[in-house]
Amino acid sequence: MEKNKLENKLISIIVPVLNEEQNIPVLYNKIKDNLKGYYYEIIFINDGSSDQSKDVIENMMKKNENVKLINLSRNFGHQIAISCGIDYCMGDAAIIIDADLQDPPEVIPKMIQKWQEGFDVVYAVRKAREGESILKKLTASIFYRLMKILSGTKIPLDTGDFRLISKKVILVLKRTREYQRFMRGLISWVGFSQVGIEFTRDKRFSGKTKYPLFSMIKFALDGILSFSLMPLRIVSIMGIVTVAILLLLIIYSLYRTIIGQTVPGWASTTVIILFLGSIQLISVGIIGEYLGRVYEEVKRRPLYIIDSVIGFKTSRKNNKTEEFEKWD
Ligand code: UDP
Ligand code: MG
Repeated sequence: MEKNKLENKLISIIVPVLNEEQNIPVLYNKIKDNLKGYYYEIIFINDGSSDQSKDVIENMMKKNENVKLINLSRNFGHQIAISCGIDYCMGDAAIIIDADLQDPPEVIPKMIQKWQEGFDVVYAVRKAREGESILKKLTASIFYRLMKILSGTKIPLDTGDFRLISKKVILVLKRTREYQRFMRGLISWVGFSQVGIEFTRDKRFSGKTKYPLFSMIKFALDGILSFSLMPLRIVSIMGIVTVAILLLLIIYSLYRTIIGQTVPGWASTTVIILFLGSIQLISVGIIGEYLGRVYEEVKRRPLYIIDSVIGFKTSRKNNKTEEFEKWD
């Protein structure tokens, strides 16, 4: 690979971190090995860790000035932590990677190569997933397929957030401030030339997943509701279909009255009431989910709150402010 061409290019590695003290040193060494010959910065976003992650990163910073750390004021969630990293990165390209070594750093040079070929987004497709429960694999698989059906945006199947994005994409994302974030959906929505490369998703090096079933459901709902109006449409369609069925029923009961067969049937009445009642409840629930999200958006709170930023040189920080002004 011709590394000379890249001499003046900076690669930003963005790592969201929630309690990953065991994983960080191993990850760091692997990233470093795979970035030999490139200018790089590794930005760790400490998303409210309660273990020693922060100290581990700070120790690393003493040895390597390319390591930077942003401490958030509390846990804001994986997707927001990534967004914070994107906001603060200075690279010509950024690579988002999980801290638990499930996304192998060995794929990084391949991503950079694709970027050099002119692609703006290089996403990593999970060819196989190792060491994850059947439940996780199954729900993930259903989720990705459901997303494909429901959303207008073409989100590639079986891809996580492990991907490279070019400066163009970084600049767009810095300006996309929506609160409900589903990063991989947003990155697909941005457009430009995108390409996938396959990899095998390893099991977690150490520690536990931060996405138990409940968080996964929330994540899936965020993904679907922020990228699709289809559930609302289904509600309208259900309304039209029930009205049609009820019209037929009305005609039928009038007919029975006219011919004198008016024996009241409680079963049909109960069924209709229950049926309508449940459809209405579901509909109100779905509308409520959207309304709740609108509510979150209109509050316009900051996406995240930073406790401290370490390792970014002052001049760089000033640069960042200027850039923000330019974009708005
Ligand atoms: N993470 C985070 N904040 C959270 C949850 C997770 O920064 O609230 C980080 C976590 O440290 C890891 C990445 O996001 O680097 C992915 O999380 P995890 O491995 O738990 O997800 P999974 O791979 O099980 O889907
Ligand atoms: Mg993981």
